[in-house]
Amino acid sequence: MSEFLSSRFSGLEEYTPGEQPQDKKYIKLNTNESPYSPSKKVIEAVNSEEVKDLRLYCDPDCKKLKTALAELYEVSTENVFLSNGSDDILNFAFMAYGDRGAAYADITYGFYSVFAELHGVESQIIPLNEGFTLNTDAFKGLNKLVVIANPNAPTGIAISLDTVEAIVKSNPESVVLIDEAYVDFGGESCYKLTEKYSNLLCVQTFSKSRSLAGGRLGFAIASKEIIDDLEKIKYSTNPYNINRLTQAAGLATVKDNGYYLENCKRIIETREFTVAELEKLGFEILPSKANFIFAKSNKISGKELYESLKEKGVLIRHFEKPRIKDYNRITIGSREEMEIFLKTVKEILGETV
Ligand code: PMP
Repeated sequence: MSEFLSSRFSGLEEYTPGEQPQDKKYIKLNTNESPYSPSKKVIEAVNSEEVKDLRLYCDPDCKKLKTALAELYEVSTENVFLSNGSDDILNFAFMAYGDRGAAYADITYGFYSVFAELHGVESQIIPLNEGFTLNTDAFKGLNKLVVIANPNAPTGIAISLDTVEAIVKSNPESVVLIDEAYVDFGGESCYKLTEKYSNLLCVQTFSKSRSLAGGRLGFAIASKEIIDDLEKIKYSTNPYNINRLTQAAGLATVKDNGYYLENCKRIIETREFTVAELEKLGFEILPSKANFIFAKSNKISGKELYESLKEKGVLIRHFEKPRIKDYNRITIGSREEMEIFLKTVKEILGETV
C-alpha cells in the first residue's frame, strides 16, 4: 500500500477470485465456467471486420444487444441494463442503494461484503439456517438493500419465486437485488416480477450458462427507474465498458439461445450423475440448482481433498471458512471431465483409507 491511498481504502480486503492458473492445464472445476465453448455463431460474429472496427469506440448503449435481450425476455429495452460482467452491476447497486445498509447471508457470494466495504455500506449479515437454507423471514421488512443469490453460491440451494415475491413485497422502501448468476441450471427467475415490483432488481450474467465468462457481460432487468439509476452510474464511470467484440459475441449468443438451453440440459444431467456417484462414495451433497455442487466427504477433509485433487491436475474450490471448511465447491464440467474427476477422487480416497 502506498502512503497516498485514501484512508477510506486502507482497511479494504479485496475479493480473491478463484485460481486461474497459467502453469499447466487442469481439469478446471473451480470457477463455475461452462465446459462448452460459445456457439459457432459467436465465433463467426467476432470476425476480422469487427476486429478492424476496434479503432472505433463501441456503442455505449449496446442498442443491438439490448434490443435482442429485451425480445428474448419479452420486456422493453428501457427495462434492460448491460454492463461489464454482473460483478459490475452488483458494484453499481451497492454504490446506488446502500445508504441505509445492506443485508445478505453469511454464506453467499464473497463479493457482496467487499462491495459493501468499498462503498462504506453497513452490512447486516443474516446466517443461513442449519442445512444452509436461507432464513427467508429474516429478510422481510428490512427496508435496506437486500441482496440474495438465487440459487445461492457456494451452496447451490435455490429459493422459490413465491419466497422472492414475499421478500420483495415486504421491503417496499428499498431495492431487493436477486443475483441470478446460476438461475439457468434449474432455478426460477424473478425477471417477470419486475413488471409488478418497481423495487426488484434481477441480475444475470453471460458468464455461466452462456459460455462467455472471459467476454465479461452481465445484464439486469428491472423497472425503468432502477435501470435509469444504473445507467447514470455507468455513464458517470465508464460508458464504453462493454467492448465491441463482447457486444458482437453477446448478440450472437442471444440469437442462438437454443444452443445454450441444450448445454444447460446437459450440465443438469451431468450434475445429477455426479451427485449420484459421489453419494456412493459417502459424500454429503447439498441440493443444487446450479452448475456446481457443494459436497462434503465423510472420509477426508475439504482442504485435503482440494489439495490432493490439485496435485493430480483437477481444480475445485475450497473455502477455508469455519462454517463450510469441510465442503468443497465443484463446478460441473463435461461428462468426460466429471468421469476423470470421479476416478481421481476414488484414487485419493483409496490412498487415504
Ligand atoms: N454472482 C455470483 C453468485 C457469482 O458466483 C458470480 C461469479 N463469480 C458473479 C455474480 C459474477 O459473475 P460475472 O461478473 O462473471 O458476471
